[in-house]
Amino acid sequence: MRIIEEIWDRSPTLSFEFFPPKSDIGFWDLYRTIESLKPLQPSYVSVTYGAGGSTRKKTLELVTRIKRDSDIEPLVHLTCVEHTRGEIAEIVDDLKSNRIENILCLRGDPPAGSSGFEATADGFAHADDLVSFVRRRHPGLCLGAACHPETHPEAAGPEADLDNLKHKVDSGVDFLITQLFFDNADFYRFRDRCAGSGVFVPIIAGIMPILSVGQIKRFTEMCGAAIPPNYLSKIEAVEDDPDAVRHLGVLHATEQCLDLIENGVAGLHFYTLNRSTATRAIFQEIRSSLAVKSGR
Ligand code: FAD
Repeated sequence: MRIIEEIWDRSPTLSFEFFPPKSDIGFWDLYRTIESLKPLQPSYVSVTYGAGGSTRKKTLELVTRIKRDSDIEPLVHLTCVEHTRGEIAEIVDDLKSNRIENILCLRGDPPAGSSGFEATADGFAHADDLVSFVRRRHPGLCLGAACHPETHPEAAGPEADLDNLKHKVDSGVDFLITQLFFDNADFYRFRDRCAGSGVFVPIIAGIMPILSVGQIKRFTEMCGAAIPPNYLSKIEAVEDDPDAVRHLGVLHATEQCLDLIENGVAGLHFYTLNRSTATRAIFQEIRSSLAVKSGR
């Protein structure tokens, strides 16, 4: 199933993102977690693509298994990091032969310890190059890409970032998924700016329930998302109590989702960090609004 068709037929879509665990036991635990989320009827699940060879292999194994053995649609992330175009060609041909129809084309985060992203000789410098390459090689695949409502940290500015996004979408992107954000006003402003600049593909909102103060500070520092001061002070006040942080994280993400559904979002994509409890709790609260809009 091509995700873009699901977006047109049943939006808002509901999707969950996982990363491939390092160990074989972790691999099977995660596979069971994904299976256990089936009753929530996700439109698709996505699997991230890391910087190391062994985790990359696990990403490809996991999506192939999901496609072959479960009735959930996988979306595989693919990055330009340390890949030549020959390697990318092999990977996408292999994905295609395993009937994977949906690829999220990303530039990728630089490997741990390196000072910044560097394109590989005979590789790709930006996600738009990857999109053009995959689109030309397999025109029938459904391609997603990332976007950054609060502007990508390396961009020269919001306008330059939007111009680059427009070019990426015009290279053959079917839908976008946003970087995590905590203030819906940022998302709505970004969606309007996209429409004003001729970026008309559906934009799916990336949602992350905060589960740990230390962890979210690390993430937001890296991706440039801001935590609204009143939300930050509430979670900081209880940062030594993981249950209390989780409760506030679920509450905030639930409010975000309900408001996004009300305002016609194309889809909700949960950054699960491989845990399902918070996502399930949010789903319980949003299920009726979701059902009314999407006909689930
Ligand atoms: P790009 O679109 O290439 O943009 C990167 C920067 O380059 C931006 O500043 C942009 O303005 C600029 N730019 C883009 N095109 C051009 C151009 N043609 N000329 C000049 N400048 C240009 N990372 C991983 O490593 N693995 C994952 O699995 C992963 N999954 C993700 C999933 C989602 C939904 C999101 C939102 C992010 C994910 N990331 C992942 C992180 C992502 O790789 C980083 O945010 C990365 O820094 C940028 O990726 P991009 O695809 O947006 O890059």
